[in-house]
Amino acid sequence: MPGYRAEPPEITWSKGQPFSERFEDHYWAKGNPLAEKAFVFPAQHDLDHRVQSTQHFTLAEIGFGFGHNFLLTAEQFLSVSTDATLHYFAFERFPPPARTLADYWATRQIPLTRELIDRYPSSIKGWFPVWLHPRIRLIFIFDDINHALPELEAQVDAWYLDGFKPATNPEVFNAFVYHQMSLRSKPGATLSSFSVAASLRHGLTAAGFDVMKRPGFGTKRELLFAQKPGHWAPTPKLTPQPLIIGNGLAGTAISQALTRYSIPHQLLTSHQAKGASNQPAFNVYPQLSLVPDDRALFSLAAHHFTRLHSLEFEPAPMHWLSADPARQTRMARLAQHLPDDLLCDQQGQLRFPTAGILRWTPADAAECDIRQIRESDTHWLVRSKDQHELTTDTLILATGAETTQFLPWSMKHIRGQSMVFRTSTQLPRLYSGDFGLTHLGKDLYLIGSTYTLDDQSIEPRDEDAYALSAKLNAHFPGIKIIPTAQHTGIRVAYPDRVPGFGESFTHRFTQPSWQHIDQARSFVHEEPESNWIFQTPTKSNEALQGPRCFASTGFGSHGATHALLAGESIAEHLAGAPRSLPRSMRQRFRPDRFDPRRPMKN
Ligand SMILES: Cc1cc2nc3c(=O)[nH]c(=O)nc-3n(C[C@H](O)[C@H](O)[C@H](O)COP(=O)(O)OP(=O)(O)OC[C@H]3O[C@@H](n4cnc5c(N)ncnc54)[C@H](O)[C@@H]3O)c2cc1C
Repeated sequence: MPGYRAEPPEITWSKGQPFSERFEDHYWAKGNPLAEKAFVFPAQHDLDHRVQSTQHFTLAEIGFGFGHNFLLTAEQFLSVSTDATLHYFAFERFPPPARTLADYWATRQIPLTRELIDRYPSSIKGWFPVWLHPRIRLIFIFDDINHALPELEAQVDAWYLDGFKPATNPEVFNAFVYHQMSLRSKPGATLSSFSVAASLRHGLTAAGFDVMKRPGFGTKRELLFAQKPGHWAPTPKLTPQPLIIGNGLAGTAISQALTRYSIPHQLLTSHQAKGASNQPAFNVYPQLSLVPDDRALFSLAAHHFTRLHSLEFEPAPMHWLSADPARQTRMARLAQHLPDDLLCDQQGQLRFPTAGILRWTPADAAECDIRQIRESDTHWLVRSKDQHELTTDTLILATGAETTQFLPWSMKHIRGQSMVFRTSTQLPRLYSGDFGLTHLGKDLYLIGSTYTLDDQSIEPRDEDAYALSAKLNAHFPGIKIIPTAQHTGIRVAYPDRVPGFGESFTHRFTQPSWQHIDQARSFVHEEPESNWIFQTPTKSNEALQGPRCFASTGFGSHGATHALLAGESIAEHLAGAPRSLPRSMRQRFRPDRFDPRRPMKN
């Protein structure tokens, strides 16, 4: 069974030098590698000049190792006066553990070393985007390059090829990898490597690079430099003017991410549609399964991102316990597949050490209860209950359970009720399993939540409060509580229980039974208060230009963990930045995947 853990690097140390047993090679030649690496990598790519003219600079390194090349590049990038963003893709199949990196860098001083250590992921497979600086995004990709590279959606400006020597590392130095690199290179993209092996030179040439040798560092005669034919052109920042409907966890996350990319936007909310995010606090922890599928891998990446980038995240290790022996055993088995810093089993006590509590503040939004959305050739027209009209070229729905008021997407609505109570019994600060428990303040706790399918009533119910009290009593017998508040909300989930975020295309397809309205410019449903988004009958494929529709929804019970990275994914797309999640994962999470109008294959 494929596991969560990244493959271990098998490092042995001799006189402060790391050596890879697996590749029978040193991580670097003797002494301090900084000067040589600075020469072979950042110095070969005309970075100063190129980053001054571009808005996004995409660099991909194969063989991230201890991060020297990244830190040197970041240092150089920050020394140039530019408002460009550096997107650095760090491919590493055998990542050194965070502690090894921390020990190594403890005595060396380069800017961003501290940030690199603090934001370094656990030793698990996956893609982990993090911001190390407002202008530097680092995407750790802990996976086999042969698997990961085809998933990369980026136009790369520069490549660093810093794997172990080709003789012992054919999984990096092979024709498939060179071809994939070539496909993802911009015209004029540059490449450098220590190795001038004939197999590498011939392989890159066959893949379409112009290859040459340049003078090497110090006593080394040569290094390899290669370039894709064509004139390198800077990447501009795109400037859409998005309109976000909804300022719950999802809408607020998108707004924050757009702000990071300096994209001005409008945000609307409706007090009529009180969202699920209206809870006093949220438990934040990854949603896992025994098999590391896309949902679990996204959840781990999103959890990492939220821990690092949510200003309101309060770290609090979470205890997990279920009265159901089958669930308890399953979670204990899961703990065997994960590093202890993510989920540990200490003599039957299960803990998520990196979990936490989110008490969040919604982004400022204009009050506007949207009742209808229509599409023209060039823009969306959004109309409120009081007939106020707004237009936008880029519509983003972050409307939670209300999404199905606008689109015929198949989604489940799940009513939840939570309760705030006082007790003099000391309880864990953060607890999960059969229910969630969060410490809010002195003697004050939140317990959540009930789960009622296909129920959209938000009136608090006494029977739900009793049910929550009973669960609490079952885990903490004899506990005395005084309920002080009840909170309700409607969660929404897709049938596959995976969130949906990104661009939606289904409004561009026609349902045959709706052909009779094909001359109309807006679709009016038979019910008088219909809000459905109009779909233009003549449009038949996704590549067409026109107003764009995005969504971020379907977060079920894990919006606090997942919404922030979903927001980042939408914002990077709108900004014209490279994509920080694997292509197949993003496809799997398309928000319109349960739209009955979606063609079976597209
Ligand atoms: C009781 C309970 C406890 C929970 N506990 C946790 C937890 O511990 N951890 C966790 O991760 N998740 C938890 N969840 C789930 C979490 O609340 C959701 O996943 C999350 O809030 C979804 O956020 P959202 O922004 O997608 O939707 P919502 O919060 O529902 O936001 C929708 C937004 O759209 C706006 N809107 C809708 N229609 C219109 C309209 N017509 N015009 C204008 N604006 C509109 C609303 O005003 C709102 O701002 C809990 C949920 C409940 C109900």
